[in-house]
Amino acid sequence: MTLPANVAGVEITALRQSLDLHATGLELHERIRRLYPICRSITGNGVRETLRLIGAEVGLDVREIATGTPVLDWTVPKEWNISDAFIKNRNGDRVIDFNASNLHVISYSAPVRQSLTLDELRPHLFSIPDHPDWIPYKTSYYRETWGFCLTHRQLQSFDPSELYDVCIDSSLIDGHLTLGECVLPGRQEEEVLFSCHVCHPSLCNDNLSGVSVAVTLAKLLSQVSRRYTYRFLFVPGTIGAITWLALNEHVVRRIRHGLVLACVGDRGVPTYKRSRAGEAEIDRVLRLVLASKGAHDIRDFSPLGYDERQYCSPGFNLAVGVLSRTPHGCFPEYHTSADSLNFVDGGALADTLHTCLTAVEMLEGNVAYTNLKPKGEPQLGRRGLYSSMGGHGHSALTEAALLWVLNMSDGRHDLLDIAERSCLPFADLQRAVAALTNAGLLASS
Ligand code: ZN
Repeated sequence: MTLPANVAGVEITALRQSLDLHATGLELHERIRRLYPICRSITGNGVRETLRLIGAEVGLDVREIATGTPVLDWTVPKEWNISDAFIKNRNGDRVIDFNASNLHVISYSAPVRQSLTLDELRPHLFSIPDHPDWIPYKTSYYRETWGFCLTHRQLQSFDPSELYDVCIDSSLIDGHLTLGECVLPGRQEEEVLFSCHVCHPSLCNDNLSGVSVAVTLAKLLSQVSRRYTYRFLFVPGTIGAITWLALNEHVVRRIRHGLVLACVGDRGVPTYKRSRAGEAEIDRVLRLVLASKGAHDIRDFSPLGYDERQYCSPGFNLAVGVLSRTPHGCFPEYHTSADSLNFVDGGALADTLHTCLTAVEMLEGNVAYTNLKPKGEPQLGRRGLYSSMGGHGHSALTEAALLWVLNMSDGRHDLLDIAERSCLPFADLQRAVAALTNAGLLASS
């Protein structure tokens, strides 16, 4: 049975049902592969190039905010760019080469050009002894220093009697911080926010997985009519979200629901971290969506993590949760070179996209209806409603859905209330709404 257009969220239901998860997984992974080589940081050309590639797929407004601009309690930092870096031995061989991995240089490293003994160089070298083949990812955004990250095996091959030629060809100067956003207007001004950070270099799950899912979600939602306005933010972590909030207080008031997307491509089960409010509509929706999908984890809010720290700060207190698979810091590959193209999986990425789309479908469809024959049960058989039950497999109307919708549609309870109380799938309730509306028994409140 096709849902009629008089049921909110119906177009997104059709979109979700027509989604080819295998093809979508390939698309999501391929986008990560394209973005992977770029050396991103919280400012600079890596973010610009990333936004340029995203902007080739979805309409993107890009803003440049000058160094020194005060933003909430912070200041936009200097812009950092890097063109080359290496450590050479006496023979002129690059024993560490930025061109082999952009993780080799601590992000925001000041420029340096020196000859140093190993003893002098050693405080600037970082490795992971427990994972001797992985390069750690380190940053030094707000304290001017420099350093190299390398595998522990590389570190062990350094020669104490050697004089090393060290070069970081970077610049740290007054420039700009770059923000990207894609807005899809809806019939209502109220907004749903999707936010992801674009400040990590060659790391896949932490950073690029969220970016890739957000881009495909924006592309899909641009194809359907929408009740809500959808805003996708592609911003550097922390300082980018703070800058966006500082410049958009007038928009913030319109945000009703939101999700931060981070670490959404590994093979772990989906994890949802509640908003600060804990029982906001987005929290209830994600609980239902994940329950319908099988194994998952739901965690309470904490002021640690990604940009929910800013969106859920008490002065904004937005209803923004976090969708992940394995949360940040809970997988050993986190912030290392092992968070690579092999670590993220097309099936997991597509499953996350499906979760987002199902959540959007519920948000769009979650309206309250009024039973127009509220005294006693209306006679369903006379109206042909029983005849549409059974025998049609998945799309069959269930008597339970009809009766729950009729009983609770008193203008005060919305479909989410009914889904929670009845434990029936949201889509079944939508089908019941469609049938009851067509029979003249139900109207939007
Ligand atoms: Zn990170």
